[in-house]
Amino acid sequence: MKFISTRDHSPRISFFEAMRKGLAPDGGLYMPEKIPVLSESFWSSISGKSFTEIAYQMAKPYLEEELTDNTLRAVVEEAFNFPIQMRSLENRQHVLELFHGPTLAFKDFGARFMARLFSEIAQKKEEEVTILVATSGDTGGAVANGFYKVPGVNVCLLYPKGKVSPLQEKQMTTLGENITALEVDGVFDDCQRLVKKAFLDNELNKNIQLSSANSINIARLLPQSFYYAYAVAKLMSSDELTDPPVFSVPSGNFGNLTGGLLAKRMGLPVKHFLAATNVNDVVPNYLKSGDFEPKNSIQTISNAMDVGNPSNFSRMRFLFQDAEYSMRSVITGYSYSDEDTRQTILDVYEKKGGYLLCPHTAIGYRAADEYQSENDVDNHIITLATAHPVKFRDVIEPVIGKKIEVPTRLNRTLKNDKKSISMDRHYESFKEKLIELNA
Ligand SMILES: *Cc1c(COP(=O)(O)O)cnc(C)c1O
Repeated sequence: MKFISTRDHSPRISFFEAMRKGLAPDGGLYMPEKIPVLSESFWSSISGKSFTEIAYQMAKPYLEEELTDNTLRAVVEEAFNFPIQMRSLENRQHVLELFHGPTLAFKDFGARFMARLFSEIAQKKEEEVTILVATSGDTGGAVANGFYKVPGVNVCLLYPKGKVSPLQEKQMTTLGENITALEVDGVFDDCQRLVKKAFLDNELNKNIQLSSANSINIARLLPQSFYYAYAVAKLMSSDELTDPPVFSVPSGNFGNLTGGLLAKRMGLPVKHFLAATNVNDVVPNYLKSGDFEPKNSIQTISNAMDVGNPSNFSRMRFLFQDAEYSMRSVITGYSYSDEDTRQTILDVYEKKGGYLLCPHTAIGYRAADEYQSENDVDNHIITLATAHPVKFRDVIEPVIGKKIEVPTRLNRTLKNDKKSISMDRHYESFKEKLIELNA
């Protein structure tokens, strides 16, 4: 399987090369040259299968030229070593909890899968790779956790001093070992600038194998298609499913939803997708008007979705170039205010036996509810729950007027000592640190 850029469709490179590069030289995002369609017998037999079995089968067509079957099995077993839970509420509404991984958000799927694959490259080539990540918060924790103690890979995280939440900071800075956290005296844009400059620094690249792990990496996208199939498998096994389900996806950069579109193209029966956003509604607007107009992002209480120019939109377009259906016929957009979000958290808490939704998931749930009342459909609706509510207790507690209990493992993270290296925002300081770390 070869991979091409969403922009000029060239050059054709392998999965590992695309993963190493992250972004294509023409500024496009990597996609498989041809979407593999899995056999009908596979799709009709997924009922009751484990997540790792489904993940293995779905990853295989993309990776079979790079990894042996046994290695790929080991990769998925190690990457996805945490549960996924399906909460069935009444009215054919379900919530797929994707937040039981180490950093309590669905980004663990992408980060952990990619980390295991990078380790395979490092072992094959017998060389160390240094992954640079500029983060404004959530990605740093997921990447740090995913790559923790992975042989052959060093991670260098750059985050803006004083601009991430205390929990996010602890998740990035308490691990140690192969994870180095640089606390930059600046803003997120400074962190991003330093990383970009390092990639263009020939002298540095001669001595250190640098790579990136940001959210547009193809290795992070791929695993986000697996759990759509798992959700269907789970509903099939309880005999609840007769018609293809609808998925409601809380969205920001649209990687998660693109994962669902990929699963559908691979043959998974899906009736419809709901693109649920906060007031950063560029994609819902596009679905209504046909015009894609990126904007500056607006800050909201569902801050992981505060994206004004979603990078995966180019992948969505790519997937519909040669599809038998239009984007609009498969996706409906919904967008909600912070007020709506809070109201939904409260409604669900009161009406569904104290069930808590994080602000992102609440937006997805609200869209599912609206879709169901607007459309006379019997199909089941599955909302993807993207983060554990406890991560957003500062938002939720005032809404429900109650304290939320913090799980023990989170308390442990919060109690650990922060180990970070303070740095100014000048490139020379960063370069010096990188050379020191690799000496
Ligand atoms: C990243 C994130 C999202 C948005 O996902 P995209 O793939 O960027 O659309 C939603 N919710 C949470 C909690 C996130 O961390």
